[in-house]
Amino acid sequence: MSRPAFAHVDLNALRHNYQLARSRHGGRALAVIKANAYGHGAVPCARALAPEADGFAVAVVEEAVALREAGIGGPILVLEGAFGADDLARAEAFDLWLVVHHRDQVFLFEQHPPTRPVPVWLKMDSGMHRAGFAPGHFAAAHEKLASLPGVGEITLMTHFARADEPDELATARQVRTFDDATAQLPGARSLCNSGGILGWPRAHRDWSRPGIMLYGADPMPAEGHGLEPVMTLGSAIIGVRELPAGEAIGYGGRFVTERPTRIGLVAMGYADGYPRTAPDGTPVAVDGALTRLIGRVSMDMLMVDLTELPAAGMGAPVELWGRTVPVNTVARAAGTIAYELLCNVKRVGFRHAD
Ligand code: PLP
Repeated sequence: MSRPAFAHVDLNALRHNYQLARSRHGGRALAVIKANAYGHGAVPCARALAPEADGFAVAVVEEAVALREAGIGGPILVLEGAFGADDLARAEAFDLWLVVHHRDQVFLFEQHPPTRPVPVWLKMDSGMHRAGFAPGHFAAAHEKLASLPGVGEITLMTHFARADEPDELATARQVRTFDDATAQLPGARSLCNSGGILGWPRAHRDWSRPGIMLYGADPMPAEGHGLEPVMTLGSAIIGVRELPAGEAIGYGGRFVTERPTRIGLVAMGYADGYPRTAPDGTPVAVDGALTRLIGRVSMDMLMVDLTELPAAGMGAPVELWGRTVPVNTVARAAGTIAYELLCNVKRVGFRHAD
């Protein structure tokens, strides 16, 4: 038997979440499957979504090429765009769409013109101040790109810094800035990530770009938008011990038993992507019942309290996150976000199932 740690990926739930994103926003939706589909496996996720998805978005050209080589057709947008002439050449060869967020990327199109026009998503920095053209330079960048024969259809885009905060005026300001600076420009528009799709109907335009919501982690504080969890990170009990009160367990002796305690050892650690920062008390499900993490998470193992679960013994199934323990709950406990937890999952056995 092999080590029981696994990540189960529910492709039906993924499709459900994609449909929900598209119907809430309207128009067309690019499924964001960068970073190995937020840790879920880019190729199997793309294959599952391909019959219904309007297209995909990844961060870098390598990710897009890997999808093409796996037989994925349709639009694939590269969100960081081209870093050099070779990226541009591959974009043409593999029929990719490129974000242009910096003037060096405009020069690339000028200096190494593709022989077939490459569709471009021109990105504005409407207030996040991470990537994109300032509103005052946007029209000039558009004009320049539109004059180049190697540039195909131009879509106008921006990205929100705080769309997951429902009453945050910064998002309303970003929308206004974008609308004002693009009022005279032709082309389809795209503003919304998951937070925008769920919380900002006034920002809905021609294309959405759902990421985290596809994987069932609701980015809004008031969850309950009908998303289904996609990944179950699971394992099994691989050791059981009983300790009296007053015993320190695990590295650093962080947890000290308050009573006679039955401890279950789980084959899962931070080398698998479970966060080392998870504190004592982080929920874990054993045999479908909730209990708690105790002691510091180690590289390959962690411990849970089985005192209240006397029937749970060797081999009992453990859910670290999934339907019983939402990944958002673990992320909050560990002081991070679901995005980071999901992206970090590795080494465990992946199973993709309909
Ligand atoms: N659009 C862009 C430009 C992004 O960078 C990302 C992710 O970071 C997304 C869309 C998807 O965002 P989310 O996962 O919050 O839906």
